[in-house]
Amino acid sequence: MAKLFFKYGTVFSAKSLNLIATAHNYETQGKKVLLLIPGIDTRSGGYISTRAGFKKEAESITPETNIMDIFHNHLKHHEKIDCVLVDEVQMLKPEHIDQLREITLLFKTPVICYGLRMSYTLELFEASKRLLELADKLEEVKTVCWYCNSKATHNLKLVDGKPEYKGNPIDIGGLEKYIPVCYGHYAHPPTTFKNEAK
Ligand SMILES: [Zn+2]
Repeated sequence: MAKLFFKYGTVFSAKSLNLIATAHNYETQGKKVLLLIPGIDTRSGGYISTRAGFKKEAESITPETNIMDIFHNHLKHHEKIDCVLVDEVQMLKPEHIDQLREITLLFKTPVICYGLRMSYTLELFEASKRLLELADKLEEVKTVCWYCNSKATHNLKLVDGKPEYKGNPIDIGGLEKYIPVCYGHYAHPPTTFKNEAK
């Protein structure tokens, strides 16, 4: 059976870089990957881009998209898809995760999803929750805390250098910044901290 993977990590854990490396590995063997990105992630605009400067075209998924339709469309053009790679998966709807699960069953195509597990408000994203329920394999993409060398497990939201713990869990494109932290530094970030997150 083809597997559904959830590779989760905090911000700055190079998830998109990991995705692009996986796509590259398939493509160097002449295999075809289907790259998907949520359309509501306005930063992306049909591209998966990494902080390291790599960029790759991807098909957008809006809340109304049925991912099975995208998949069928490729099959109609006689394109065999060897692997589906999804970036920023936390921004999808839970129904999209069910559709991805269906793809692994019906077409025996593996699906690898990359994204955040939970928001800065300590809530699981709906799509991430669905992945925790449905995935065959969970894998943590690791990085270290911004303030110490412990493993980062949480995302801290900073507005003008001050931590913020409440609000809309999906909140992108504003002036706020997110950094990866351990739980200790999530709860008590250093007060002398100047906002140097990029
Ligand atoms: Zn720390």
